[in-house]
Amino acid sequence: MPREKRVENYDVVVIGGGAAGLTAAIYSARARLDTLLIEKALVGGLATYTNEIENYPGFPDSPKGEDITNLMKKQAVKMGVKFKLTDVKSVELEGEDKIVETFRNKFIAKSVILASGGRPRVTKAKNEENYLFDKGISFCATCDAAANTGKDVVVIGSGDAAIEEGMFLTKFANKVIVSVMHDEGIMDCNEIAKEAALQNPKMEFVWNTVVDSFEGEGHLDTVVLKNLKTEELIPIKCDNCFEFIGYIPNTEIFKDQINLTKQGYILTNEKMETNIEGVFACGDVREKWLKQVATAVGDGAIAGFAAEKFIAEHETFNTVIMQKEKPGLIYIYNAIDTPSREFLAHVEKIEQFFEGKIVVNRVDVYKSKGISDRLNIKKFPAAIITKDGSIYEQHIQDFTEETIVQALNNALN
Ligand SMILES: Cc1cc2nc3c(=O)[nH]c(=O)nc-3n(C[C@H](O)[C@H](O)[C@H](O)COP(=O)(O)OP(=O)(O)OC[C@H]3O[C@@H](n4cnc5c(N)ncnc54)[C@H](O)[C@@H]3O)c2cc1C
Repeated sequence: MPREKRVENYDVVVIGGGAAGLTAAIYSARARLDTLLIEKALVGGLATYTNEIENYPGFPDSPKGEDITNLMKKQAVKMGVKFKLTDVKSVELEGEDKIVETFRNKFIAKSVILASGGRPRVTKAKNEENYLFDKGISFCATCDAAANTGKDVVVIGSGDAAIEEGMFLTKFANKVIVSVMHDEGIMDCNEIAKEAALQNPKMEFVWNTVVDSFEGEGHLDTVVLKNLKTEELIPIKCDNCFEFIGYIPNTEIFKDQINLTKQGYILTNEKMETNIEGVFACGDVREKWLKQVATAVGDGAIAGFAAEKFIAEHETFNTVIMQKEKPGLIYIYNAIDTPSREFLAHVEKIEQFFEGKIVVNRVDVYKSKGISDRLNIKKFPAAIITKDGSIYEQHIQDFTEETIVQALNNALN
C-alpha cells in the first residue's frame, strides 16, 4: 500500500534554489513568513557550475559562482528559510491552499514562487558529459568570453543566439569556428546578423555539420564534426566550445496550470505575477530578455516582496473587508479624483447614521489596487454592500447617499 504523504503547512513555498529562488526566500522569510525552499539538485542552481563570475556587482575578484550562491544560502538560513533537498513532482496551484508535492511530502502554502530555472540544450554527442561547463563546453558567451581572450573557439548552432553570441566572442577570441547543420549560406538567424557574421574576418563556417564527439585529456581540445552529406569526420582543434542550440525551461510540471510561451517560459508581469493569484515566478524560468545572476536576484526580490503583499492583502481582505459580523459598506475611491474624494464626507455621515450597526471600510485605489482587483471592481467610485461575508449589492459610479442608506437598511433587515 502506498505510504501516506506527510502534510506540512507554510506561508510560502519556493520551488528551485538558484539565485532567484534563494533571493525570493530571503525576502519572504525576512517579512516573517514561514518559508520553505525546495531544491532537487544543488542549492545555488546553474551559477554553481560557473568557475568565474565577473559581472555580478559587488564581487570585483571574479569569484566562483558557488562562492556567491553559498553566501546567499547562508543569508537565507539566517533569515529562517527551511530547506528540503528533493524533487517537486506535482503542483495544484489554483485556489487558496496551494499544494506542492514531493515523493514523501505534501506541502500546503498560501503562496508559491516558481524559480525552477532551466537547462541548456546539449548536442548529446559522444563524450559531451566529460567537458560540460568548466572543462571546455560553455553555454554563455556573456559569462565566459573574457576567459577566451586570444583563443580559438568553436560555436555550435546558427540561430540568433549562436550568431550574435559568436560575434560577441570575436571581440575576445582569436578565431570563432561555427558549425552549421545547413547548406552553405543557410543559417537560422536573422538576415542582419547573418550578413554581419559572414563578413566578420574572425569567423569561419563549417557547413552541413553536427558534432560527432568531443575529445581532450582532462580539458576539451578537439571538437570532431561530422559532415551530414559525406559522413566525413572533421576534427577542429580549439580551446573551448560554445553550444547555442537552445535552452529548456524547467516548467513541465506547471504546464497545464500556468500560462507559458511557446518555448515553455512562464509569462509574468513586472510584479512577477503569473496567471494564478498568489503564484509568482522569477529568474531564468520566466520569459525575459537577459538571463543572468543579477537579473535572477532582482526578479527574486520582487517575487518575495509580492508574495508577502499578496498574503497580507489576502488576510486583510478575508478578516477586515469581507468580515461576517455586521453588514458592511466598502467605499472604493481614488484619492486623486475630486468627486470620489468628496463623497467621503457622505460616507462619514452614513457611518454616523447607522451608529455602529454596520462596518465601513474605505479603500483608496490610488495607494493599492489589490482589494478592488479582488472584488473585480474596475470603475470608481464604487460602494459595495456586504452581508454575512458576501457581496449583497454593488453600486458603481452612479449612486447617492440615499441609495446607499437604503441598500444598507435592506441588508440589515
Ligand atoms: C555555463 C554558464 C555560465 C554562466 N555564467 C554566468 C555569469 O558569469 N554571470 C551571470 O550573471 N550569469 C551566468 N550564467 C547565468 C546564470 O547562471 C543564471 O541566469 C542563473 O543561475 C539563473 O538563476 P535561477 O535561480 O533563475 O535558475 P537556476 O540557477 O537554474 O536555478 C533553478 C533551480 O531549480 C531547481 N529545480 C528545477 N526543477 C525543480 C523541481 N522540480 N524541484 C526542485 N527543484 C527544481 C534546479 O535544480 C536549479 O537548482 C551562466 C549560466 C551558465 C549555464
